[in-house]
Amino acid sequence: MTSAAARTALDLTADLPVPALEDFYRDLHRHPELSLHEHRTAAALADRFRTAGLDTVTGIGGTGVVGILRNGDGPVVLLRADMDALPVTEATGLAYASEKPGVMHACGHDLHVTWLAGAAAALAAGRDAWSGTLIVVGQPAEETGEGAAAMIEDHLYQRFPPPDVLLAQHAAPGPVGFYAHRPGLIMSASTDIDIVVHGRGGHGSRPESTVDPVVTAAYLVTRLQTVVSREIAPRDSAVLTVGRIEAGTRHNIIPAEARISLNLRTQSEEVRERMIAAIRRIAAGECLAAGCPREPEVTVGNSFPATVNDPDTDRRVAAVHGDVFGAGTILDPGPAMGSEDFPLLAEDDTPYSYWFVTSTPPDVWDAAPGSDLMEKFAAVPSNHSPHFAPDPSTIAPGVRTLVSGALAYLVSPAGLS
Ligand code: ZN
Ligand code: ZN
Repeated sequence: MTSAAARTALDLTADLPVPALEDFYRDLHRHPELSLHEHRTAAALADRFRTAGLDTVTGIGGTGVVGILRNGDGPVVLLRADMDALPVTEATGLAYASEKPGVMHACGHDLHVTWLAGAAAALAAGRDAWSGTLIVVGQPAEETGEGAAAMIEDHLYQRFPPPDVLLAQHAAPGPVGFYAHRPGLIMSASTDIDIVVHGRGGHGSRPESTVDPVVTAAYLVTRLQTVVSREIAPRDSAVLTVGRIEAGTRHNIIPAEARISLNLRTQSEEVRERMIAAIRRIAAGECLAAGCPREPEVTVGNSFPATVNDPDTDRRVAAVHGDVFGAGTILDPGPAMGSEDFPLLAEDDTPYSYWFVTSTPPDVWDAAPGSDLMEKFAAVPSNHSPHFAPDPSTIAPGVRTLVSGALAYLVSPAGLS
């Protein structure tokens, strides 16, 4: 049974300009831009929005782009794509690999921008088939967690009507042709923490006259491994990763301080608070044990909220995706440990749905070692890998997911429930 929204979506995307969208995608991939520097990308996306006939504003929250199409009575639907690339040196060997040394679209945001450009054009061309208001957002700086907040602070919802529903999607590893939905928690919260250990520096040959922060930092890193394993209940998922440790300048100098940077992934505020308290306690305890002259500084830095899909919204969008692509293409991936700043665009608990589009090229998937889905999943290049190369064959399907998701609200006879 195919819904009216799915039929309309298939109709509006029957003649997508796939070669032109592929060219657009390859151009974006060749020219990646770091967070809050997405000038070229934003201009290219704005150009697409204007060509499609949308009122378009640039420079929101830095480099953000917003297009709007007011098309009669009905709900306000917001579609969002993030635009930034990563400080990664590309190793895909693709003909359209990055031309900017040390910068790469290693998270697929170039694909997200292409999907959004294609969806905006298809929905605008087919405006007679739906009614309501469409808002399309090219968001800067997802990778640093700054972009969504910057757009909100720059009065996004004073300049544009607040949406009734928000939709976004992300390219993910997995054999092409699947749409991963979860009616609830789908992405984890992320919290950065910095610790400074204060010792007393001196000559490497006279440790008795110093308090060595390198040794204390080493104990601290090891002891922090017990936070998840010994203090968090097995039913709760959490990750603590020490991503950076820095101290010293020379072989024979005991430095005065050591710095540790770590990142947490959590799925509830309670677990997050518990972990932060444990980290503060362990840092203070190790420094006390070592005789540090001062207490350590523990600073909670950047954080991302958890991404929790509104169950009704996600089921509604997943249902239309099932109608468009076949019920067997929809799967529940379970909550991921990755994080997103997309929820910050959903002010006042506005419902949203966020899903994944699997994008590993079939030959890469087939060649990956492993006998089952999970083994292969672990073996293929993941987001942020220098080898991450989503299959351009996902361009048309990724446009259809956005178009059909929007139409689940914009053509539904019942309107927004
Ligand atoms: Zn990323
Ligand atoms: Zn990403």
